[in-house]
Amino acid sequence: MNVRSGGPAKTKVELDWTPPAGMTAQVAASWRAFYLKAISGSAGYTATPEMYVIMYKAQLGRCFICQKAKGINPEDPKGKGPQRLGWDHNHATGAVRGLLCTLGQWSCNRIVGRYKDNPEAWRRGVRYHESPPALVLAQVQRLASDLPVEERIRIATAVLGVERETMEARVRQGRRGAPSSFVVLDEASRLEIGGVDVTPYVDKAKGVRFES
Ligand SMILES: [Zn+2]
Repeated sequence: MNVRSGGPAKTKVELDWTPPAGMTAQVAASWRAFYLKAISGSAGYTATPEMYVIMYKAQLGRCFICQKAKGINPEDPKGKGPQRLGWDHNHATGAVRGLLCTLGQWSCNRIVGRYKDNPEAWRRGVRYHESPPALVLAQVQRLASDLPVEERIRIATAVLGVERETMEARVRQGRRGAPSSFVVLDEASRLEIGGVDVTPYVDKAKGVRFES
């Protein structure tokens, strides 16, 4: 505890850290400054040097997300490496999450910051890549074309992510009053692409009927 005169009492954080054997003074000073910032909580989170070393090893020395960016080994006496991985933390709770690359405008740390603490946006991003909305829409439009019913079932099953048996049951159900080439979808089959209801587009195309 270090009370400064003429101002509010401030707690001076001491860094309990011994540089690894043989580490040059310059490299040690750089780590010391980094660790001091982490231990002081001045950046919104608190993490010890020990935590950093454990995390670094657990992540095999790479950024958790891209796994391309290599971090400087905190135990390397010469501090070799393209960059130091930085602590990423939850800004709401202050909890550290892991080590990410921090160099440049497109670093993973910046990208995480771009999405703030909005995991839904991340999930949409994954869905976007795995199931591009334009591709889904193209499939939906094919549903409305003159394809044989078997092909419609195949596409509808893929697009809606439902079991084939369920889709076949719906088709059978629909056949009771509808032309046999129509795939009839019920209310639960609302077609959604990226959170947008595209059902009207399909309905407009007059190939897929919907039960109310
Ligand atoms: Zn990265």
